[in-house]
Amino acid sequence: MALETWAFGFPKLGEKREYKKLLESFWAGKISEEELLQGIDQLEQTRLKLYAEYTDSIPVGEMNLYDFMLDHALMFGLIPERFKNYKGLDLYYRMARGRRALEMTKWFNTNYHYLVPEIENLEEEIKLVENKPLRAFNKAVEWGFPKERLRPVIIGPYTLLKLSKSLQKEENGSEMPVYTMKKIEDAQTLEKLLEKFIPVYKQLLKELEEAGVKRVQIEEPALVLNLTEDEIKIIEKLYEELTKDLKELEVYLITYYEGIDTPYFERITALPVKGIGLDFVSSSRNLQNIISKGFPKDKKLIAGVINGRNVWKTDIKKLAEVINQLKEIVGEENLILSNAQPLFHLPITVEVENELPEGLKERLAFAKERLQELKLLKEFLEGKEEAIEKAEKLEKLLNTSFGENKSVQERIKNLKEEDFIRKPEYKERDKKQRKTLKLPLYPTTTIGSFPQTPEIRKMRVKYRKGEISEQEYKEFIQEKIKEAIQIQEEIGLDVFVHGEFERSDMVEYFAILLDGIATTKHGWVISYGSRVYRPPIIYGDVSRPKPMTVEWITYAQSLTDKPVKGMLTGPVTILNWSYAREDIPKREIAYQIALALLDEVLDLERNGIKIIQIDEPAFREAVPIKKEEWAEYFDWAIKAFRLSNAKVKPETQIHTHMCYSEFNDIIEYIYEMDFDVISIEASRSKGEIISAFENFKKKGQEGEEEIKWDRQIGIGVYDIHSPAIPTKEEMRQIMERVKRVLPKELLWVNPDCGLKTRKWEEVIPALKNMVEMARELREED
Ligand code: GLN
Ligand code: ZN
Repeated sequence: MALETWAFGFPKLGEKREYKKLLESFWAGKISEEELLQGIDQLEQTRLKLYAEYTDSIPVGEMNLYDFMLDHALMFGLIPERFKNYKGLDLYYRMARGRRALEMTKWFNTNYHYLVPEIENLEEEIKLVENKPLRAFNKAVEWGFPKERLRPVIIGPYTLLKLSKSLQKEENGSEMPVYTMKKIEDAQTLEKLLEKFIPVYKQLLKELEEAGVKRVQIEEPALVLNLTEDEIKIIEKLYEELTKDLKELEVYLITYYEGIDTPYFERITALPVKGIGLDFVSSSRNLQNIISKGFPKDKKLIAGVINGRNVWKTDIKKLAEVINQLKEIVGEENLILSNAQPLFHLPITVEVENELPEGLKERLAFAKERLQELKLLKEFLEGKEEAIEKAEKLEKLLNTSFGENKSVQERIKNLKEEDFIRKPEYKERDKKQRKTLKLPLYPTTTIGSFPQTPEIRKMRVKYRKGEISEQEYKEFIQEKIKEAIQIQEEIGLDVFVHGEFERSDMVEYFAILLDGIATTKHGWVISYGSRVYRPPIIYGDVSRPKPMTVEWITYAQSLTDKPVKGMLTGPVTILNWSYAREDIPKREIAYQIALALLDEVLDLERNGIKIIQIDEPAFREAVPIKKEEWAEYFDWAIKAFRLSNAKVKPETQIHTHMCYSEFNDIIEYIYEMDFDVISIEASRSKGEIISAFENFKKKGQEGEEEIKWDRQIGIGVYDIHSPAIPTKEEMRQIMERVKRVLPKELLWVNPDCGLKTRKWEEVIPALKNMVEMARELREED
């Protein structure tokens, strides 16, 4: 039998962002439910045709109306009490984006956000409300796709539960038990809950089997997390149970985003299923393990060899060597070739990108091109003449260097330890900064952006299209900055911002201005629901041809006596929210970006800017899945941040900002970043997040005492995602909580993130309340 190719996770967005338009028109009441569903069906047919054209098997059941985890929650009737009175699409979208919608959080270490299913009632019976993969299968048959090629896809029970939250009893010592929604972390609860899901999943599989389905793809990315012995036992039992009564149906268990933990490799590959999918792209772990430990003889290997998370064309010839190795281990008849991670992390196609830097386009592959690569790979392995020619050409192209900049490389080579160390140490700097800045206790500020109004977005489009001149655009932005400064004066904030009106996006803005990074015209990727963004592409050595923000900030500073913060996006965030080159280590890319930022930082300082904020919202998300890789990641990530500002004068105050991050397990690393001030979210967690800082203790040098947290923290006292105007009391409660555990000299007061998605009518009263609250606190002290 010939080699088989599979693919999965192709983006649902549509080449013209049809998905986004459909959802948003439906929400705005401009199209009916019927029109929405018809449009979605059309999109789905286009996707299935692509799979059918380029690969051997067609996954069905991947399409959804917002998020796949939400679909799974509904499939099993996981509907929290607060939504119980709603039905159909009304229910669906209330759970997705209504009042008290499900919590949204990052999907593994990606920038996709999923909705977190809630298991509210542990005693409640779980039932199969709807067999979604079956429905998708039947539909595809109806549309004329060959039945035997269809392969329904679902998220497996282990991953579903690992990423859900359940109502759990708090051990707080009081008599009244308190229940909170929490991740299911302890193995016993997990096992108990899984037992409820087993019969339901079994029923789902049984129904598929009865309908004539031959193969099903169960996705279990959670199997690549660091597992424990207890968890492995639970997983073994789970799959034993799930598959024991099946007759014809073949189960394929797919993992991705990392390799299986080395000690458990053999036990995972031995699970009683027909085939196991392993990711050979995210790291070399799986390859090493399969070489040293082998693979069960009776099993298929779905070899994830084509990159679903980055955009560089595959060197087919080089890959073929790996595949030949795999063939020897598992046998040719047992090998299925596939993408390594879902393709939805990629834009649809490069075909339409006509304004990329010379020579870049032919090096890129987005989702559609990944399907074509699978086909090419297969033909190459089969020895087809044309494919071999193509692969040889490709090899040549990919082995020529691209986007090199010798002076950047030189600069990196010449870096010395001291370039990463800011002097003098914090205590000294702090004294000097307090002297120059003369800020009151609990200084008030904002995170950077102010409302991006439709007017601003319209003007930017006009400017891009050449309908208004650069001069006109500049004057317009200056006008907005002027208004923002006036408003901040009226509100009475202590440290101002310019408002970031010139930025479409905090990463794309810098990507456009930096050399070595390209931006696309149509390269949209969904970050959640209908929200899309265009990740830039770091293709060469990064440098800054000219100042990027100095003009705007200094203009803002010229209008006021209050300090205006310089606003930059940090090296880790620019790197992590872009597609990165793979020919040099991430560390080096991060240092290159950091050096470009350092130039900007020093220019700002030279131009009289006293406070500079370097945002790192992606710092936490970029943390590797495997704990054993944390040390290496934090080493370069911390150094990159430090490099971006280590050369400033002691008087210049360096801020950073991270939103919606869990700090508990990374607080020691955060401290090492050596900033003067960090602003964080504190409103959703009602100040609880501060416990990470409270518990922080750093071992001093020998003979010294332990160091407690001693850097300033901007407390994010209100949630910028909500249009509601926070009251003084709400915000005050958070400050009170924080004041109890941290010295008041360390505290700043601010919203929990940038205000660009809000309206001025919301922002002004909210900030007024915030400033008044801070004043009252000051007076009481
Ligand atoms: N300075 C940015 C802003 O205010 C920070 C955004 C972010 O943290 N995501 O918009
Ligand atoms: Zn933020």
